[in-house]
Amino acid sequence: MRKLTFITVVFVLLNFNAGDVSAQTKEVTRQETLRGSITPERDWWDLLHYHLRVEFLPETRRLKGSNEITFKTVKAGNKMQIDLQPPLAITKVTHGNSELKYEREGNVYWVMFEKELPKGVEDKIEVFYEGVPVVSRNPPWSGGITWGRDDLGEHFIVTTCQGIGASIWWPNKDHGADEPDRGMQISVTVPENLVAVSNGRLKKTDHDLSGKKKTYHWEVTNPINNYAVNVNIANYVHFSEKYQGKGGVLDVDYWVLPHQKEAALKHFKEVPRTLEAFEHWFGKYPFYEDSYKLVAVQYPGMEHQSSVTYGNWYRNGYLQRDPCNCGVGFKFDFIIVHESAHEWFGNNISMKDAADMWIHEGFANYSENLFVEYHFGKKDAEDYVVGTRRGIRNDKPIIGAYGTNREGSGDMYPKGGNMLHTIRHIINDDAKWLAILRGLNADFWRQTVTTQQIESYITNRAGLDLSKVFDQYLRTTDIPLLRYSVNGKTLTYNYERVVKGFAMPIRVTINGKELKLIPTEAKQTLDFSEEIKTFEVNRNFYIEAEMRLEPQKAQETQRRQEGKSRDLYSHVG
Ligand SMILES: [Zn+2]
Repeated sequence: MRKLTFITVVFVLLNFNAGDVSAQTKEVTRQETLRGSITPERDWWDLLHYHLRVEFLPETRRLKGSNEITFKTVKAGNKMQIDLQPPLAITKVTHGNSELKYEREGNVYWVMFEKELPKGVEDKIEVFYEGVPVVSRNPPWSGGITWGRDDLGEHFIVTTCQGIGASIWWPNKDHGADEPDRGMQISVTVPENLVAVSNGRLKKTDHDLSGKKKTYHWEVTNPINNYAVNVNIANYVHFSEKYQGKGGVLDVDYWVLPHQKEAALKHFKEVPRTLEAFEHWFGKYPFYEDSYKLVAVQYPGMEHQSSVTYGNWYRNGYLQRDPCNCGVGFKFDFIIVHESAHEWFGNNISMKDAADMWIHEGFANYSENLFVEYHFGKKDAEDYVVGTRRGIRNDKPIIGAYGTNREGSGDMYPKGGNMLHTIRHIINDDAKWLAILRGLNADFWRQTVTTQQIESYITNRAGLDLSKVFDQYLRTTDIPLLRYSVNGKTLTYNYERVVKGFAMPIRVTINGKELKLIPTEAKQTLDFSEEIKTFEVNRNFYIEAEMRLEPQKAQETQRRQEGKSRDLYSHVG
């Protein structure tokens, strides 16, 4: 019995490891390609507008609705890819007065037009759907619907879909490269005692007295990411304020549960100071027309555009933890700051391909320390961003596999943030860096972009070739190691574990005096004016430094350093 148990345990462990490895290297499936790439059936038409009408039926846990998709043809075409994941199913597709034929292939529907549509025309279809949607087991990390209850037993229903895609709950063109240029209407029907809150502004509410239902009509006038569309249904109460910002008067609305209102009135003072900090760093809030909202949910939070969802317990930190473990994380509400930063990086500037998710998460993580710097000064900001390095795992590269909807490592958060912080210190010119951050948001205003565009933009504006820096931090799992030795007045140094041609300048302090070094893989020497007693690399550069040791000592050092990595961030919305 004992022996058998032992064997069973070993088998399970081996099996687990084998599964882990194959998950990273497994072949790309046709479904992943259909979901993650710009297929010919997606390429010929450009999204102009969505009107999603959806009824939530809590008693049967069903959805029923339609999406009216307005588009412009950029080529002639007759076959259209629409995504909707089972168990939901399309029941009808209409085009004017006629019904279109369609076929299902897994998560994809192939919709056939009666005849080819010519290039350059505007047209629309309406896709009807219904069914029992996937239930999210762990929002926001898993997608689907959460049919929850609040503390008082009322319905508390929310949608989440980052990663898995919006087609988990409504039919659409589920790819980041195309957003509806004119925005989206979301009409949500719910039992009459509940309030449905979605993105943008509430235009009107219809009350069906005999059906005991209400329909809430929300409107977003700007392009929107599919995954940033959300519906939250609860016994919400509402309060609001006006924020005088860089774009004029911004309507700020709050939707919380009745018993949270008192705490929210106090704690949401965090919102104006967050908007103030980010309008300073990034330029005006991108969606004045659509307002800014915080909506209470039962999961930590998500960057739903103009409808940031919030579940951080009305307390500073992140679920009562401090991401930097340095105290600074308790000076602000992580979710309000991080998710609001996504309005600029994620919703204003959006990735075309999920492999480039770091453009959302790296910048949002980086924004946390900018918020700290704006309100508490540089020392705290540096403590914070350097402190978050403890969450970096260097398990796989930050950039995922293009065209497959596979994201890269969760390191896109703290390592992405630390890469940007390092780049700021390479540029070493605060005014220029501020201009780059604001320039990104102005020049890529409401656009979808690639990593290459962001890299080129920063490189051009900085006037420095940063391509090797981006390669090192985004495309490898190695952290540059500065190997050095001291002999009297002479410092010898070089980089190890770097991409070919890596020559990132750093600042170091020798005997209290700051100097700039440009190490490369080749050894260089520096002759200092006096005997070198102390040597330190400026902590703002995310590298490791190690004095050249005898082989035996080096092994001991490595052993001591093992077990340092921690698992704080797995994935924050
Ligand atoms: Zn995020």
